[in-house]
Amino acid sequence: MVVSVGIDLGTTFSAVAYIDPQSKLPKIVPNREGNKITPSVIQFVNGQPIFGAEAESAFNAGEPGCAATFKRGMGKTETYCVIDGKPFTAEELSALLLRHLKEEAEAELGDTIKEAVITVPAYFYSTEREATVRAATAAGIKVKKIIDEPNAAAMAYGLNNWRENANILVYDLGGGTFDVTLTRMGCNGNLSTIATRGDRLLGGRDWDNRIELLLLDKFAEETGADIHSDAATKTMIRGMTEGVKKQLSAMQSANATASIPDFGSATVVITRTEFEESTADLLDRTGALCQAVLTEAGFSARDVTDVLLVGGSTRMPQISQYIFRMFGKKPITHVNPDEAVALGAAIQSTKENESYAALSMQVMNDGKKVTDRSDSGLSLHLSVKPSQKLSSLGLLTLRETTAHAMGIIAVSADTTKYINDIIIPANHPRPVRVAKAFAFYTSANCVDEMEIYVLQGDKENPLDNIIPYKYVASGIRHIKEQKGKTTIKVQYSYDNNGIIHVQARQEDDRIDLPIRKEFVPDDMSKYALPIDPAEFQRLELLNVVMAVDVSGSMSGAPLSDAKAAMCNFIRQMDFSHTQVGVLAVSDSTAIVTKLTDNENACIRAIQSITCGQTGYGNDAHPFAIIKSMLESKEGRLFSIILADGVWSYQDAAVAAAKQCNAAGIETAAIGFGSADEKFLKDISSEDANALLVSQSQLTSAFGTIAQSLGGGTARSGYDNTASDADTWDD
Ligand code: ADP
Ligand code: MG
Repeated sequence: MVVSVGIDLGTTFSAVAYIDPQSKLPKIVPNREGNKITPSVIQFVNGQPIFGAEAESAFNAGEPGCAATFKRGMGKTETYCVIDGKPFTAEELSALLLRHLKEEAEAELGDTIKEAVITVPAYFYSTEREATVRAATAAGIKVKKIIDEPNAAAMAYGLNNWRENANILVYDLGGGTFDVTLTRMGCNGNLSTIATRGDRLLGGRDWDNRIELLLLDKFAEETGADIHSDAATKTMIRGMTEGVKKQLSAMQSANATASIPDFGSATVVITRTEFEESTADLLDRTGALCQAVLTEAGFSARDVTDVLLVGGSTRMPQISQYIFRMFGKKPITHVNPDEAVALGAAIQSTKENESYAALSMQVMNDGKKVTDRSDSGLSLHLSVKPSQKLSSLGLLTLRETTAHAMGIIAVSADTTKYINDIIIPANHPRPVRVAKAFAFYTSANCVDEMEIYVLQGDKENPLDNIIPYKYVASGIRHIKEQKGKTTIKVQYSYDNNGIIHVQARQEDDRIDLPIRKEFVPDDMSKYALPIDPAEFQRLELLNVVMAVDVSGSMSGAPLSDAKAAMCNFIRQMDFSHTQVGVLAVSDSTAIVTKLTDNENACIRAIQSITCGQTGYGNDAHPFAIIKSMLESKEGRLFSIILADGVWSYQDAAVAAAKQCNAAGIETAAIGFGSADEKFLKDISSEDANALLVSQSQLTSAFGTIAQSLGGGTARSGYDNTASDADTWDD
C-alpha cells in the first residue's frame, strides 16, 4: 500500500518516487509514457490541460496555450500567464501539475496517494514554500513535509554511501535554478546542512539561450538572411537549442539544420569548445556561489569530501571539469542527477513510517556488500565499510538550515533610519524561534494594532530584502494604570518547512494577540528614507507648559476664544505620554496647574482662568517659571506662549526665553491683536514657531502646534527598538 510519495516539483522536469514495498528501496514512479521524469509544462487544449511529452513539444514549437517554468513565479500573487483569456497564477499551474503527477503515479502504483514530501530549492522564500503547500493541498495532496532539494539529493546519496564526518557539497544545476549546499554527514546518520546559496535565475535555460545566440549568428552568417528580425525562424531555432545542447554533452560538436526563408535548408555546426567559451561566465557564477558557501562555512575547497552533482544540467561535461579545477577532485556522478531529488524525498516521506524502519534494517543486514541499485537510479560504486556506517542509517535524520536570514524592520540605534534588524541568521538550523520585546504605547481612544514587517535576507537596507508579509497584531489593550505603556512580545519562527510564523502577545497579561497577514503595501519607500524625527518623538514623553496672557486687553472674547483654543489643543494631545502645565501671565505669573497627565484637570484649570487674575498690565514674563517647571523633566520639553499686544519688559523676556532654550526647552509663541512679530520670533526657539494670527485663527494655530507635537493623528506606536525575550510554546 502506497500512501505517501516524494515529489520533485522541478522548474523544467518533475519526478515522483516511492519506497518499493518489496525491495524497501526508493524508486522512481514512471509516468504513463514510461518516463522517469515529466516535463513541468502544461498545454491547454480547448480549455483542458494536457501534460507530458506532448505538452513539452508543443511548448518547444512555440504553440499557443502553453505554460512552462512557472515554478519561477511561485509565491507571487500576480497572474503568471493568461491562456484563452483565463488568468493563471504559478500556484494554480503548479496545482494542476501536481494533480497530474499524483494521478499518473496512482495509476502506475494502483493505489491512492494521500501524502507527499515535496522538494523546493533551498533558497525558496517563505511565500514560495507556502505557495507550494497550497498548490499541493489544492491538488488533493497533504504535504507531509517540504524539504530542500539538495538535502533530498544528499539523503538519496547518503543512503548508499554513508561516510561519517564527510562534508558533501551538493551542486544542483537544474533547468532554471542553481543551488549549492554544503551538507555534513555526522555520526548516527545525522545529515545536517551547513550552508546554502542559490541563484533563482541561473539554470540550463541560460545555457540554451547561449546556444540560441550561437545558432542565430551562424545561420545568419551561413545564409546571409536577416534572421534576427524574423520571429518565426527565431522560434524554430529556439526549439532546437536544447537538443543541440544535449548533443554537445555527448559529442564534441553538434549539427543543426533549419529551413531558412528565401534560402532553403541550411546546416551549421557548433563545437563543444565554442559552446564552453560562450558560457564560461555562467559557470563562474556557479563557482562564485560555491565559494560563498565555503566562506560562510569557514571551509576551504580541500575540506570538501565529495561533490555531488544534481540536476539535469550537470550532464554537461564542462561542469565536472569545472568542479575538478575548483575542488581538485572528480565529482560524484553515479546518482542519477534528475532522479536523486525525488528519491531523497521518497526516503523522507516514509522516514517516520514502519517501511522506513524495515528499509534501514535491510540495509543494515546487507553487511559489507550493498546491492546494485541502478534500477532506482542509485547505482553503487563505493564499497561501503560495514558496522557504524550502515547501522547509523536506521537513525538517518535530516537537519535542515535556513537559507535566508530573518530580520525585522527596525529603527537604527541613532534613530535616523530604518534598518534590517536580523534576528535569525542565515544557515541556522530549523525549526528555530526567537522572541523580541517591544515597548508599545496605546491610547484610550483608538484601536491599537502593531505592524510587523518581517524580512528575509541580510541586506542592511530593509527594502533590499524580501518582505513576505505585513503582520498586524491587533487587540492590544490599553492599560490605564500604566498610562498606556505596555510590552508586546513578538515571536518569529522558521518551522521545519522553512516557513515563517509570527506570534504576538501582550506581556502584561500574557494574552496572545490575534495576528493578520496582509500583503505588503506597494509603497514602502518610507522605510528607505531618513526617519522624520517628529514621528519618533511622538513616542517620547512630552512636557508642555502653556502660558496665556491675561492682561486687560484679553478681556471678553479674546480670552474666551484663547481658552477654547487651548482646551482644543489639550484634547488633541495623547496624555498617555504627555504632561501639561498651565500659567497665567500679566503683571506677575501664576501657576494655574502644575504639570499633570490628567486631561480633565487641565481642561478645568484652563476654564478657571480669568482676565486680570495676575494684574491688568504686562510687566511680567513666564520664562523663569517655565524653566523651573520643565528643566528637570525627561523627554521633550515645550512651552507655548499666547501673547496679546506688547509686553513691558521685552528685553528681559527675550533673555529669559533664551535661557529656556539653552536648557533644552523649545518655545512656540502665538500672538494676536497688537502683538509684535519680531518679539514673537525672539522668544520662540525657531522662527517657524512664531505664529502671528487673527483671533479667529487661534484654534488652528494651536492645532498646528498640537500636530507638530504628534497630537491629532494616530496616537499609538512602538519604539521599534526591540530587546531580546524568551520564546514561548504554541
Ligand atoms: P529542474 O530541476 O529545473 O526541473 P532538471 O534537474 O530536471 O531541472 O534539469 C533540467 C535541465 O537539464 C534542462 O535545462 C535540460 O536541458 C538539462 N539537461 C538534461 N539533460 C541534459 C544533457 N544531457 N546535457 C545538458 N543538459 C541537460
Ligand atoms: Mg531539480
